[in-house]
Amino acid sequence: MLKYLVSPKCRLCPRNCGADREKNRGLCKTYNKLEIASFNLHFGEEPPISGKNGSGTIFLAGCNMGCIYCQNYPISQLKSAFRRIEIDDLVDIMLKLQKRGAHNINFVTPSHFAHLLIDAIKIAKSKGLKIPVVYNTSSYDKEEVIYALKDYVDVYLGDLKYTDSVLSKELSGVDDYFEVATKALKAMFDTKGKLVLKNGIAKQGLIVRHLVLPGYIENSKKALLWIKENLPGVDVSVMFQYFPAYKAFSHPFLKRKISPDEYFEIIDFVNVLGSKGYIQQV
Ligand code: SF4
Repeated sequence: MLKYLVSPKCRLCPRNCGADREKNRGLCKTYNKLEIASFNLHFGEEPPISGKNGSGTIFLAGCNMGCIYCQNYPISQLKSAFRRIEIDDLVDIMLKLQKRGAHNINFVTPSHFAHLLIDAIKIAKSKGLKIPVVYNTSSYDKEEVIYALKDYVDVYLGDLKYTDSVLSKELSGVDDYFEVATKALKAMFDTKGKLVLKNGIAKQGLIVRHLVLPGYIENSKKALLWIKENLPGVDVSVMFQYFPAYKAFSHPFLKRKISPDEYFEIIDFVNVLGSKGYIQQV
């Protein structure tokens, strides 16, 4: 499944870079081979994802975007620490995390490995994986990939970063982000719907994340408004924990954290909209 999009020339993600990933790295900086940076129980996600026991988080190496403020940049952009693994190794990791009590398996930055993750999830389920699979994505995903993941992913943590092509080009290197991400989010909502909880833990559904960036409050308002108008009843996670990283120190707006005024302006906006979900503090 999805392999027709990967070889001989990769078009798995909206970058459509056409790399022959058997021989070369694509714009996502990866070959057609799984690469992970780390895995562990993670307690910093939204409450229904981390719960008490933690989310079984697996950080995949590389990324199909190029955010200049990426807080995972050693993994996503520089790939300074990663290891190449086989699908069976990933299956073992998933089963180990389940054994350690993880509430779910949480693939972080999965878009460029979607085809290999489907293979791994299939095998893991046949070997006893019972906990939900979380797809933690920038939403820079093709709609057809999201529909192909229907039977393998249970919960989406999908970003909506920008509503503006000039901004997405400047900050993340892609000018079609809004067009692509909004289609992908609609596909996630169409296939998984609103969040379903069991004992406070997410079993299925979509949480839309938005990271508030300093100096870009209007972008945040437009993103939150789009979510409200287009994904009725969806849970929203508004994140204020931005700190400068990677290339952000030389950017005029991104070299600082969110100000108290910006924080309260967005909180007021969320209250007026009546969005439900989670507020993640600094
Ligand atoms: S997944 Fe990677 S190699 Fe494939 S189109 Fe996207 S950036 Fe290019």
